[in-house]
Amino acid sequence: MSDIISKYNNVVEKINKINDNVTLVAVSKYKPIEDILKLYEMGHRDFGESRVQEFINKYESLPKDINWHFIGHLQTNKVKYVIGKVNLIHSVDSKKLVDEINKYSAKKNLITNILIQINLSNDINKYGISREESFELVNYASKLNNIKIMGFMLIPRYDMSNDELKALFNDFVSLSLDITVKNNDNIYMKYLSFGMSDDYELAILNGSNMVRVGSKIFGAREYNY
Ligand SMILES: *Cc1c(COP(=O)(O)O)cnc(C)c1O
Repeated sequence: MSDIISKYNNVVEKINKINDNVTLVAVSKYKPIEDILKLYEMGHRDFGESRVQEFINKYESLPKDINWHFIGHLQTNKVKYVIGKVNLIHSVDSKKLVDEINKYSAKKNLITNILIQINLSNDINKYGISREESFELVNYASKLNNIKIMGFMLIPRYDMSNDELKALFNDFVSLSLDITVKNNDNIYMKYLSFGMSDDYELAILNGSNMVRVGSKIFGAREYNY
């Protein structure tokens, strides 16, 4: 059995032990098509990419029944390349981006699923909307016709202890519920996307139902690939 498949099985097993209703997004950024195909052939369909050009290349070369998750920072001028190809954009954090996604989705006569990326640890991450601004952004986005808010996404700082992460996760979940209650007409609280290779179990234990796991499945990334 290939290394990737056994690592993947290991992650799936650990997830299912905690909660078998979690979507595993296999983060394939910087990894070749062949690696993705190994999991595809086993029936896995949810893959995450963070760079537009790389995503487009993979999209063009791979089967069309893959569910693509765009998880990286998305520049407004690149939105037009991903609309109609991605199933879920995790990283929506500004009105400008929301407007652009709505505009190109309308042009193509479709509805794009998005998550609002929230930044609760403002000191290091530059992306994600702040707690204070998140209510207004969700309210604004929920009134647009060609996007559908499916939930929220969080990327913690890299240097947090398990206790700090746990507190952060709980804060994130309660803020997400709070925002949803205040916008309950147009928002589908289906996904809370948090948890990566080092903390996906902790994340699920604390309310995540969508984890984004890269290196624990595909191995360490070569950034000069
Ligand atoms: C790269 C990336 C991941 C996966 O990271 P690993 O630590 O390799 O699991 C998850 N989420 C986002 C937003 C990423 O950019």
